[in-house]
Amino acid sequence: MSKELLTVRNLKQHFPIKGGIFGRTVNVVKAVDGVSFSVHEGETVSIVGESGCGKSTTGRAILRLDEPTSGEVWFEGTDLLSLRRTELNRKRKDLQMIFQDPYASLNPRKTAVQVLEEAMEIQRVVPAQQRRAKAIELLETVGLAAHQADRYPHEFSGGQRQRIGIARALSVNPKLIISDEAVSALDVSIQAQVLNLLKSLQAQFKLTYLFISHDLGVVRHISDRIIVMYLGTIVEIADKHSLFRQPQHPYTRALLSAIPTLDPDRKKERIILKGDVPSPIDPPTGCRFHTRCMYATDFCKSEAPILRVVDQRGSHLAACHYIEDIGVATGSL
Ligand code: SF4
Repeated sequence: MSKELLTVRNLKQHFPIKGGIFGRTVNVVKAVDGVSFSVHEGETVSIVGESGCGKSTTGRAILRLDEPTSGEVWFEGTDLLSLRRTELNRKRKDLQMIFQDPYASLNPRKTAVQVLEEAMEIQRVVPAQQRRAKAIELLETVGLAAHQADRYPHEFSGGQRQRIGIARALSVNPKLIISDEAVSALDVSIQAQVLNLLKSLQAQFKLTYLFISHDLGVVRHISDRIIVMYLGTIVEIADKHSLFRQPQHPYTRALLSAIPTLDPDRKKERIILKGDVPSPIDPPTGCRFHTRCMYATDFCKSEAPILRVVDQRGSHLAACHYIEDIGVATGSL
């Protein structure tokens, strides 16, 4: 296997809630509560989970867009959380992010080519006199035409704006791209085009992806490995095939059962989870999933399960006390 490019250890992101006339901290939102995982060079690792599970917060904490509470984020031998701002800004060239809403992340007063030129100027990756040509080349690489280079963001469609966002990320020659719900706002047919584009760019530029999405169906084709998060913690990590064929954690099984299938011979029984996702301000004791889990026991309510290896190869991990007792589910790949 290729070497680890990114290693996240026990990352926590707790947001204080201020209250009262003195603005004291009255509570804490434990958005991410001790996640550990790694991403290898050339790999696509996806983080999935319902809204509020902490997946986007994890992406932002890795890049220190929000300052994490604690933990370690190792990138090519450097702990990003130990860097000073100037060092971090230099390092950010290697780690780029694509956002869900490209319209909000693109400056409306800059043309497509200016957006890319600005990114190259900030990171000093291309001499000034070559920037425009390089920017146009990148816009063409992501499927836009040279004659569109001097248009403003509002003159593009949603899919085209996302292509500009991708070109901007590429313009500084990154090694890792974190894609935060990058295709969620797009129509299904455009989603497929952008996913295919990301896949071909990965081969062309030797990129590594951390792909964040609420939709297991979307990450299905692009991922090598998948991380499932629930209420700030990781409940399952596996390669794509293992996860879709033999999901282990009851939460993953429920998520998979919700993906529609077009194959009439593969009718799936939808697992309806009871209740809503509990508040991350006061997460359930023990296993955080116990309030919605059909297999929960009293032991689950008091003891938090650890993420442990659950297969022979040692690559499929799940956090549940009763994996061996609840039997193997057959998934949908
Ligand atoms: Fe369900 Fe208990 Fe497993 Fe948690 S530890 S997923 S509550 S069976």
